[in-house]
Parts: sequence; structure tokens; C-alpha cells
Amino acid sequence: MKILVINCGSSTLKFQVIELDENTPLGRERRLGHGLVDRIGRRGEIKFVTENGERFQETAEIADHGMAARRVFEWLKSLGLMGQGGIEAVGHRVVHGGHRFIEPTQIDDGVIGAIEALRFLAPLHNDPSLKAIRTARTILDDVLPMVAVFDTAFHVNMPKRSSHYAIPRELAVKHHIRRYGFHGLAHRYMFERYAMITKKVLEKVKLVTVQLGNGCSATAINGGRSVDTSMGFTPLEGLMMGTRSGDVDPHLIGYLVNLEGVDISEVEKWLNTKSGLLGVSGLSQDMRELLRAESEGDKNAALAVEMFCYRVKKQIGAYLAALDGAEAVIFGGGIGENSPPVRSRICAGMQWFGMDIDENRNNTMTGIEGKISTDDAKVEIYVIPVDEAVMIARDSGDCLRKHHLK
Ligand code: ADP
Repeated sequence: MKILVINCGSSTLKFQVIELDENTPLGRERRLGHGLVDRIGRRGEIKFVTENGERFQETAEIADHGMAARRVFEWLKSLGLMGQGGIEAVGHRVVHGGHRFIEPTQIDDGVIGAIEALRFLAPLHNDPSLKAIRTARTILDDVLPMVAVFDTAFHVNMPKRSSHYAIPRELAVKHHIRRYGFHGLAHRYMFERYAMITKKVLEKVKLVTVQLGNGCSATAINGGRSVDTSMGFTPLEGLMMGTRSGDVDPHLIGYLVNLEGVDISEVEKWLNTKSGLLGVSGLSQDMRELLRAESEGDKNAALAVEMFCYRVKKQIGAYLAALDGAEAVIFGGGIGENSPPVRSRICAGMQWFGMDIDENRNNTMTGIEGKISTDDAKVEIYVIPVDEAVMIARDSGDCLRKHHLK
């Protein structure tokens, strides 16, 4: 089955055409093409590449994610991938499934309406996907099935002690306030790949997965499901990120509103787009740049990196306690996959309970999958480069097969 996977970020649309069937092992899928529409809303940059290395590149006005999706379909059509022998389904990543969507769901008008109704929970995150979904539906005119795969779904069954906030029950119920958690596809990928490479039974592994990219989160996994995760009602909670503050005292918002004489939305913007690595360093949200600046003596960059690593380390410790111990900690995401020094600093000093990093292994593991702990470490450490597109393709295929069998 050939599946087009569409993954919308705030100003990007990434896509892949993935071929797989129900027996394809995770990580063995075939990629027929991929691409990126960048800087949506401004002068967009379009880059598409086929499996054979044929390239298409262009700069054009791309007003929104709908227009970006249209360009993708046009390109696929020019390659003969629309119609007989071409793509058979489309899988869309949707960040927020709220309380309604607990599994991948075939898209119809009712589903689009329900995702639309969740706008109040995640306007920044769901709007781009909705635009791409609507355009795809118009273009495809019901000829091909489409599936929505939700980033929140993996965390839906967290125990109440993890998913609830200690706020008045009436307010929580009335306004659907809970810790939803995000990055579900990334955490599930790391978990399922770990079980696969170590030949362990999915339902029996206990893990802490750590996704460190521009957005960062950690998840505690037990019994095949997420039992706690660091992002909450929105993706602002938890770890320090590229431009997001992660946890702060909620009083800070009112305090800044009063002292700076601005609206709450302005402070929320500061916490989402001007904080984290960027805010502390005053330089950049890019970890590579900060490590370089640190080595040249920049003290603010050094503090940003130190805080980042410290907070990840604290979160891993908390989840190892919450899980009553785990067999492995997995690193993924741009930083987690590519930065041996950051991994080394996060894991430093954890040998006392058996989390022992092997620096030689760590230094050779950039962008590839493998173990970076010593052979006798009680808690293994792995790097597993995350492939969300593959999870979306697999989930979409599974959902359609299930639907077909009903
Ligand atoms: P997103 O969450 O937007 O998908 P990525 O997973 O691509 O982001 O991660 C982006 C982060 O990864 C940036 O901070 C970038 O600096 C960092 N990164 C990428 N390669 C390296 C590297 N070799 N060393 C350190 N950080 C890296």
C-alpha cells in the first residue's frame, strides 16, 4: 500500500510517500518520495525529491497550508503517483485529538468538524493540519481514504494521577482541562523500535523515552502505554525547549502582565517563542550554535545548555522513580540523536543506580540507532532516530484495514 503522509508544522508542510504492508517490519518501509514546503505564509520554498534522487525546487508565494498541500498533489500527479498504481491513502498528523480522538481515525466530514471543534484547545497546532486536510479532501473528492493520526492519542490512557491537574474538579470537567501530552508518535516509535531491536515483548518493557528537538518531552512507558509525560494541557509544559520555557510558576504570568503592562497573550507569546534556549542564551534556539558559543566562552550560552541538560536529567530521574525502575532510557529528536556532548551531560553522575554511559559508543552514535550504555549497565541507554512519518503511515494502513474488516 502506498501512503502519502502529511505533517504540518506552524509554517512548514513535510510529506513522504511510504510503501508498506501489514507485515513490513518497523523501519523497513520503502520511501518513494519526500519533500518540504517551508516558510508558508511568506515566500515559500518548495523542495521535493524522489526515491531515485530526481529533484524539484522552487520559490513561490504559498499563502497557507492548503496551498502547500495542493503543490504536493500537483507534483505527485506529474510523477504519475496519482491514479492507478499511485498513492492509495493519505495519513495526516494532527497534533491535538483532545478527549475525543483516542486512535487513528478515518476522515469524513464529521471528523473534520470534530477536529475543528477542538480549535479552542490548540489553535496554533491544529489549524495548519485542518487547512491541508480540507484541501486534500477537495482535491481527492472522496476517491482516496484519508486518516487522521493524533499526537495526543498515545497518552490518552495515562492514569488519573498523571493526567489530572490539582485544580477544582468542576473547572477541569467543564473545560476539558487535563494533561493531554504530545509527541506521542515520536515516543511510540522509540518504544516500538527498542522492543524490536532488543526482541522484547512490547507489553513488558519499561522505558523512559526522551524526545529532544525544538520541542522537548519525556515519557514514562509501562505495559505498552504512556503512564506519564512531561508536556501537559499544551506543549508548553515540562522540559526547557528551543523557544519554550517549559515549567514556570503560573504566578509569573500575572506578575509580568502587571509589571510590563501587556496582555496575557503577549506573555504567553514570550513563554512560547522567546524563552527556552533562546531566552536564556539571548543568542539562539539552535543547540549546535549554543555549544559552539559555549566553547568560545559565551557564559549565557553555557548557562542555557547547562539548564537544558539539568532539567532533562531531573525528568529522567523522576520517571525512573515513577516507574519503580526501568530497563532503558532512549534518546531521540534532533538534539537527542545528534549530540553526544548533550547526552553525556544529561547522563553524568547517574552510574550510582546503574545508568552508565559508554563515552566511546556515545561519541560514535550520531544520527544512527544503537546502544550507548556500557554492557553491564543496569539501565540501558539507546539512541533511536525518530521517524514519525513511518508511524503515521503504519497507523493509517492499520486503521483502513480495520475499517474495511468491519
Ligand atoms: P523539531 O522539534 O522542530 O522537529 P529537530 O528534531 O529537528 O526539531 O531538532 C532541532 C534541534 O536539533 C536544534 O536545536 C538543532 O540545533 C539540534 N541539532 C541538530 N543536529 C545537532 C547536532 N549535531 N548537535 C547538536 N544539536 C543538533
